[in-house]
Amino acid sequence: MLDRSYFEGLDSADPLAHLREAFALPEGLIYMDGNSLGPLPSHVPAAVERTVKEEWGRHLIRSWNERGWWGLAERVGERIAPLIGAPTGSVVVGDTTTVALYKAVSASRRLRPDRPVILTDTGNFPTDLYVLGSVAEQTGARVEAVPPEEVIDRIGPDVAVVSLTHVDYRTGRRHSIPEVDAAARDAGALVVWDLSHSVGAMDLDLSESDFAVGCGYKYLNGGPGAPAFLYVHPRHQSEFHNPISGWWGHVEPFAMEPVYRPASGAARTQTGTQSIVALAVLDAALDVFEGVDPRALRIKSERLVADFIRLVDERLPWFEVVTPRQASHRGSHVSLAHPQAGRIMAALIERGVVGDVRPPDLLRFGLAPAYQRHVEVWDAVEAVRGVMENDAWRHAPARSGPVT
Ligand SMILES: *Cc1c(COP(=O)(O)O)cnc(C)c1O
Repeated sequence: MLDRSYFEGLDSADPLAHLREAFALPEGLIYMDGNSLGPLPSHVPAAVERTVKEEWGRHLIRSWNERGWWGLAERVGERIAPLIGAPTGSVVVGDTTTVALYKAVSASRRLRPDRPVILTDTGNFPTDLYVLGSVAEQTGARVEAVPPEEVIDRIGPDVAVVSLTHVDYRTGRRHSIPEVDAAARDAGALVVWDLSHSVGAMDLDLSESDFAVGCGYKYLNGGPGAPAFLYVHPRHQSEFHNPISGWWGHVEPFAMEPVYRPASGAARTQTGTQSIVALAVLDAALDVFEGVDPRALRIKSERLVADFIRLVDERLPWFEVVTPRQASHRGSHVSLAHPQAGRIMAALIERGVVGDVRPPDLLRFGLAPAYQRHVEVWDAVEAVRGVMENDAWRHAPARSGPVT
């Protein structure tokens, strides 16, 4: 049986423990929703103030040249590249995950025009499914969604693009990037990965993968609505056809030519002017990961998740653990099924343990290795036990706003 002192011991031996100090997390709060909105790193407000007051306020238009606003989207992409195992010049930030995915899937579909199928899994995030539907409709393809464990067997000569979210936002189930990539390569299909629930929580190696996108405001802590990122493997960069060709993707934007000529490299995935304030937030937030080995993030994440599940088994008989039992098959959050998930989470949030719920009946606990303390796993599970033993959830509201 685990006890609290075991977790205190893990914290004192944690090589990443110092990263927690970089965050402005409220005292006494156990935050386990960084897979939905990462917390504020303490130095970000000063960085934003500099961008707004000094750069915009005093230097105005000159900041594009003199303060490096121009090219910032590519430089921030360069900082994300090592977190996903991508080579330089292959990652650019901007837009939203939804738009980045639209661009990547459209471009890849165009590279396989004779194949009718865009393949995904039934657990994929809704916006991803909607985007695939749009691309299919616009390019005369059809979307086929199969259960996650059947994806690899379904990849065949009729599949143009495989579009998957690496870690399932509901269950935490994880696809194997090398196995899916290999199956697609053998079949001549392309793969677009959505790394929204992976990047910043684990090591990733996209060096052999075709395309990827990911979210800036989850484990990367880039703030609400942070720019997303788009990765294009060098072998596809010269053939990437941006479906929303705009001046930011032009080889010479300030030549103001009437005809579109794409830039070289991943820069051509860009469309139009990005929010420099939002880029500055993400840029500053990424300081937290500077010098951090993503493998260390993964090692800590595995420990957090394994211990959380073990404690649920030992102490929370009311729940079904939906997250896979095998460490190599899961990401960095734990999902528990219970018919009263909404009320239980509301009671937990009242008690200072913040996770979230996803329909129909899942409680989600995101365990972010950059700032989670091991002892929080113990304390969160004890809070859940308290809520269940006292039936405290019966008095909690089912829902308190539009966002779950
Ligand atoms: C969070 C998330 C998104 C978010 O998309 P936005 O365009 O930022 O709203 C998309 N896909 C997945 C898989 C996500 O987890």
